[in-house]
Amino acid sequence: MMEVDYLIIGQGLCGTLLSRELLREGATVRLIDDHNPNAASMVAGGIINPVTGKRMVRSWMIEELLPFAQKTYDAFGAELGVSLVKECSILDIHATQEGRNLFMDRMSSDSDYLHETEQIQWSEYFRFNYGVNEIAPCLLVDMQLMIACWREKLQAANAIAEEVFDSADITVASDHVMYKDIKATHIIFCDGAGGSINPYFDMLPWTADKGEALIVSIPGLPRNNIYKQGISIVPWKDDLFWVGASHDWKYTDMQSSAAYRHSVETQLNYWLKVPYTIIDHLVARRPANMERKPFAGLHPLFPAVGIFNGMGGKGVSMAPYFAHELAAHLVHGTPLTPAVDVRRFARILSTKNYG
Ligand SMILES: Cc1cc2nc3c(=O)[nH]c(=O)nc-3n(C[C@H](O)[C@H](O)[C@H](O)COP(=O)(O)OP(=O)(O)OC[C@H]3O[C@@H](n4cnc5c(N)ncnc54)[C@H](O)[C@@H]3O)c2cc1C
Repeated sequence: MMEVDYLIIGQGLCGTLLSRELLREGATVRLIDDHNPNAASMVAGGIINPVTGKRMVRSWMIEELLPFAQKTYDAFGAELGVSLVKECSILDIHATQEGRNLFMDRMSSDSDYLHETEQIQWSEYFRFNYGVNEIAPCLLVDMQLMIACWREKLQAANAIAEEVFDSADITVASDHVMYKDIKATHIIFCDGAGGSINPYFDMLPWTADKGEALIVSIPGLPRNNIYKQGISIVPWKDDLFWVGASHDWKYTDMQSSAAYRHSVETQLNYWLKVPYTIIDHLVARRPANMERKPFAGLHPLFPAVGIFNGMGGKGVSMAPYFAHELAAHLVHGTPLTPAVDVRRFARILSTKNYG
């Protein structure tokens, strides 16, 4: 029998960062992941944009989250011997006069992140009539490289299994969990979109959010910025660009859709002045929820069962900070930020008959 402190289900962004933090705390971990290429972390653009939404307001806790994320990805990259994060700007290429006016209005009260920028050089690459502004600093994180490098480390330490986990295979006691030949003091679910069908946490207020993006070759476009006009054009691997993403809350299947590809092509045909070729089409479900805040901590009825999930479309900024906080909570009992503590849903989680 193998004994570990933490059995972690899922090695996406959340399972990766939480397992690293737990190891740094001196705990032992074992991970299980089914290596799904359509998991959210495998298709995400990796952007941390401090000012989001149509109204361009600062993201929740961004003053703490952004520097913490930068420090974490820098340090993690150094440990793995790769570069995971780079600072960049988002060039907001306005599609309408209203968009430009809104930016200027917001800029007058938020000069930390919103700036004027040079206009003229961008007319070589883009067709636009309403000017360009800059959102900075932003971060661009190579999550796929981070997950792949960490997986190699875990494999070398025999600390990860590639398999599909089934909750029916666990026996839960008050102070430990048994799964096959593994005894763990806790099981922590980092199962992303799988959380909504997880029998321990399916009562949480999950929402369905299908996201699509295209991988595009644009040889003539400079690679040191993100370009945004509704969709974002983001530097990706192998000299390619990631172009996305959609939010579809009423989808009926998880296939890549011809309609999305067509809408992006229509925009690029007008917007881009340099040639492009579509190389790939990515699709995944975001682990989103009604509150847009993470779920972290232990189940109110099963203290050996925990969760780190619910990152929605902002996992890249939120996961480093809360992985650190959750690891300290699990190992030392320090409190969680109440807004992310899953026990805020104690009442609803306690109403279910767990049979
Ligand atoms: C198109 C798109 C673009 C995005 N862009 C950004 C962005 O630019 N910036 C940003 O901050 N966020 C972005 N996101 C959101 C981001 O991807 C998520 O917040 C984050 O990746 C969630 O990580 P996770 O580890 O919780 O989930 P996941 O990445 O889904 O990881 C869960 C892992 O658990 C595994 N798993 C699940 N169930 C089981 C099981 N039963 N057995 C074994 N393994 C299992 C899965 O295969 C997966 O490997 C985007 C998402 C999408 C879809």
